[in-house]
Amino acid sequence: MLEDEKFMHRAIELALLAEREGNLPVGAIITLDGEVVAEGRSAIWVPEFDATRHAEIEALRAVQANLWESSDEMTLYTTLEPCLMCFGSILLHGIGRVVFGSADSYGGAGSVLEHLPPYFQERIEKTQWLGPIMPGECDSLHERLLALEEARRWQVQGEDAFPFAGADRGCGAIS
Ligand SMILES: [Zn+2]
Repeated sequence: MLEDEKFMHRAIELALLAEREGNLPVGAIITLDGEVVAEGRSAIWVPEFDATRHAEIEALRAVQANLWESSDEMTLYTTLEPCLMCFGSILLHGIGRVVFGSADSYGGAGSVLEHLPPYFQERIEKTQWLGPIMPGECDSLHERLLALEEARRWQVQGEDAFPFAGADRGCGAIS
């Protein structure tokens, strides 16, 4: 658990960095044999809008190709419970353990764990799903994410150029 907290602190640093860069405060890292092998942070707004650049996806993309054979020994740490897109990628790539800091009852994947298609059900049975382990630190990041998202929605309303203007809750809402 102490090691989990140490690694989650690094994910928090990345979330804060993302926020300073003008993105949502979500950070993720992937570890293998007690070492950090990949890092990612939310990048959906800056430098340009990209709906897929969630912290977890960024971290998955940063893993060196030759390490994937050990994916079941990897742990992915993320400050916020993964959304369905990231959850799907994590399972498809066979990450053995997922640890998140703050629960997301609105958009997190935890609520679908009992309702997966057979392929994903087999995968999740081999995956340890642990969290929220640090709500004291990570809930405030989650709250700021929701506030930033709300502010952004007001800012862009009426601008036709923004793909989700006027949507009740854009894709950027979720980690
Ligand atoms: Zn996500």
